[in-house]
Amino acid sequence: MKPLLLDLQPQDYPLGGYRRTQLLEWVYTWGVSDFDSMSNLPKAMREELDQSYTLEPFINTELVSSRDGSVKHLFTLRDGQKMEAVYMPYEDRKTICISTMVGCPAGCKFCATGRLGFGRNLTPGEIVGQILAVARVQKIPPKDIRNLVFMGMGEPLLNYEHSFNAARLMLSPETLDMSNRRVTLSTVGLAKGIRKMALEEVNVKLAISLHAPDEETRRSLIPTAAANNIEEIIEAAHAYQEVTGRRITFEYSMLKNINDHLWQADLLAKRLEGLISHVNLIPMNPWEGSGFEESTEVQLQAFYDRLESLGIAVSVRRSRGRDAGAACGQLALKQPA
Ligand code: SAH
Ligand code: SF4
Repeated sequence: MKPLLLDLQPQDYPLGGYRRTQLLEWVYTWGVSDFDSMSNLPKAMREELDQSYTLEPFINTELVSSRDGSVKHLFTLRDGQKMEAVYMPYEDRKTICISTMVGCPAGCKFCATGRLGFGRNLTPGEIVGQILAVARVQKIPPKDIRNLVFMGMGEPLLNYEHSFNAARLMLSPETLDMSNRRVTLSTVGLAKGIRKMALEEVNVKLAISLHAPDEETRRSLIPTAAANNIEEIIEAAHAYQEVTGRRITFEYSMLKNINDHLWQADLLAKRLEGLISHVNLIPMNPWEGSGFEESTEVQLQAFYDRLESLGIAVSVRRSRGRDAGAACGQLALKQPA
């Protein structure tokens, strides 16, 4: 298999000087995926590039559109494995949710990707390539996609180097030139990884999937919780905030009769004392065989109100793409029935 050019950082590109700039522009500004179309490069140079590299991380893309406008892109990688990205064209901004792995080893009980198990890590080019491929399918310039969340398949902090190299490829002015205020990495809550992330020069936003404020409930939902207790995660969050000064989002999937009790809202508020934070309540997105149900609207509202009355900034994330199996935690390669 030819090496994937997208795996390279701009400084490692095989051309120098203005030729390198031209090549980078074709790839990241114009979203071109074949060397032959790069008309301002000499033919011999294009041929040489084509013999040494490919720009295509995917051999096939299937689309599943949701009634709400979001589109799931199911990619087949060059080794035949599959994974997904979700494109969400909101009125005022275009957002993409990308994957960092095929499947996921973390095995969270309410997550369909967790049920799949681990396939493999994606390379930086396979991660950033999702943006380029979605832009091509949607017929928009790659740089029109300004908001990005690492919330697809996989746990980014368990594929740390590749995820951060991909983030570099998103943020560099020579590539996609995204704003680090609009790139959010969501983690299942790995204290060591969060501390490491705090020291990265690539300073993206952090979202932590907490889902329960008490150890017992959290461990029953999230296997990695056993090695990362809530106190350690909150301490790591403080460390991240001290260095970066950034507000941290805590994700909380609302699971009926499991983590939606008001005493849990009280404990959550207590846990977050002293942190600049924001709680994002996500009604659980159902999938067949999960064994979980979403909280009732009444319970969701009561939980929300309690947090708010305790001075916590809180919002509800109405997931997009549910009917396309494209919402949080539904990414498991199945087409909707
Ligand atoms: N692995 C990372 C990022 C991908 S999951 C993480 O766990 O944070 C993105 C978000 O969707 C996480 O907050 C995850 O807990 C949540 N999620 C998983 N399954 C879900 C489901 N069925 N309904 C709602 N949210 C879910
Ligand atoms: Fe992996 Fe995140 Fe799903 Fe847990 S919620 S299994 S960490 S993708």
